[in-house]
Amino acid sequence: MRPVDTPTVVNPLREGLGAERTPDPCTMVIFGASGDLTRRKLLPALYNLALDGLLPDKFSIAGFARSDMTVEQFREQALESVRQFSRRPVDPKSWDRFARGLFYASAGSLKTDDFHRLAELMARVHRERDTGGNRVFYLSVPPSAYSGIVEGLGTSGLAARAAAGSGWARVIVEKPFGRDLDTARELNQELAQVFAEEQVYRIDHFLGKETVQNILVFRFANGIFEPIWNRRYIDHVQITAAESLGIEGRAGYYEEAGALRDMVQNHMLQVLSLVGMEPPIAFEARAVRDEKVKVLRAIRPLLGEDVARYTARGQYGPGWVDGREVPGYRQEPNVDPASTTETFAALKLYVDNWRWAEVPFYLRTGKRLPKQTTEVAIHFKRAPLLLFRDMVDPTPLESNVLAMRIQPNEGITLKFHAKVPGISVRIRSVNMDFLYGASFAVEPPEAYETLILDCLLGDSTLFARRDEIEAAWSLVTDVLNGWRELPSPVFPNYEAGSWGPREAQDLMARDGRRWRRP
Ligand code: NDP
Repeated sequence: MRPVDTPTVVNPLREGLGAERTPDPCTMVIFGASGDLTRRKLLPALYNLALDGLLPDKFSIAGFARSDMTVEQFREQALESVRQFSRRPVDPKSWDRFARGLFYASAGSLKTDDFHRLAELMARVHRERDTGGNRVFYLSVPPSAYSGIVEGLGTSGLAARAAAGSGWARVIVEKPFGRDLDTARELNQELAQVFAEEQVYRIDHFLGKETVQNILVFRFANGIFEPIWNRRYIDHVQITAAESLGIEGRAGYYEEAGALRDMVQNHMLQVLSLVGMEPPIAFEARAVRDEKVKVLRAIRPLLGEDVARYTARGQYGPGWVDGREVPGYRQEPNVDPASTTETFAALKLYVDNWRWAEVPFYLRTGKRLPKQTTEVAIHFKRAPLLLFRDMVDPTPLESNVLAMRIQPNEGITLKFHAKVPGISVRIRSVNMDFLYGASFAVEPPEAYETLILDCLLGDSTLFARRDEIEAAWSLVTDVLNGWRELPSPVFPNYEAGSWGPREAQDLMARDGRRWRRP
């Protein structure tokens, strides 16, 4: 509970990200404006930014998709989406103001001619709203459509780099960014033909989460952790991203992706890079991303036999989650009944640099696990304990753990040892807890709010750079290739509602360790 006299604390990180500034007037063109992401995330995020007065006066949204819709229908649909998915209720006055900035044009088949239609729409928005010619293109379409759109933006001249006085242009690219190293490189190359790297914003919504950003504040705004944040004091690190949900009807996407592509290549390696990076020389895009990419490049590649030794994969069978009986992956609608797609992946990685040499980073992610939770747990080396050899309950005493919970119950827990009250000296582990919600008493913005605002402000600190994406894919592609060469595991190999396959427990047990129960 928050003490009565605690002053309201402003989140220093949001200040650091420049939330005090207002972006230039601009238009956001949303490709795929009729789609699920636009409805569930983008429009609600933009509306909430408007509610907080964080968008510029003339901010406008130009929806562009193949579906036939009038501007009025688009506004109606947008209102419905915001009603359903906004974290705050719709306020009629703010909505009217926001809705006046919503426009729509049908994209036809997205061929060259259709981009003239987009140019006309943007000219109309610019005329009516005086947006200064500044524009953000949001690719909220399936990845197969990225290339054509990027090319169209190039040939139509809509993406042209700011000529003097004609405003700036940026592009936001959704995940998945490629499906292996080659396709990611290809997409980077296509983007580079049309946009300069500083115009490209590759979304990883994990980086928009307050608690992920807080890893940097925790590490570098406190004097006491950095001196022990290294191989001398840290035994190993565990990063868990557990989902209790299944694939929620997204078989088409998931069958092609699997856990490694869906979670590890992007979110989990991004978190690892924040945990492992050196202090950047400034809290700005280039310096932060320079340090992150060094971590990714320092990860020892998994090649040959190491793939079998240092990874585990799984697929859920039927079981019980949250008191509900659920089908196995192969029984989900539209999933191949003999599918070999992994819904669980665990990896043991080494970051081969002076700070982390020989400290394993264990990563695991899976669907249909017992609970929805994402956390980073730093396991410190055990104290010698010579003094208390006979007084420990349970024996042996576990090591200290610092757990950073990314979601839900966002916060930080430090596990340490204390004397059990009583005449004899008995020792038990106890937790010291910091709960984000209780201390700050404000609802954090949605990740998409933070990221969209940063893009409008031209701050790419929380977006993945080309070299980061390629370094992450390089590692993951080696694992995918290794898995292809290994005999297929017998799937399903874990029950829905359990903590994953036996192979994942074995991966830890071989090192004399076990997964923490988050
Ligand atoms: P949808 O499948 O809903 O597609 C979005 C829109 O794109 C559709 O409404 C459709 O509009 C248009 N579209 C579909 N196929 C094509 C095509 N071949 N060429 C051009 N336009 C096409 O996707 P989502 O909205 O779910 O996702 C959009 C992007 O965001 C994807 O890259 C996805 O991976 C990513 N993403 C989505 C998340 C989500 O929660 N939905 C979460 C994280 C990432 P129309 O037919 O009117 O043109």
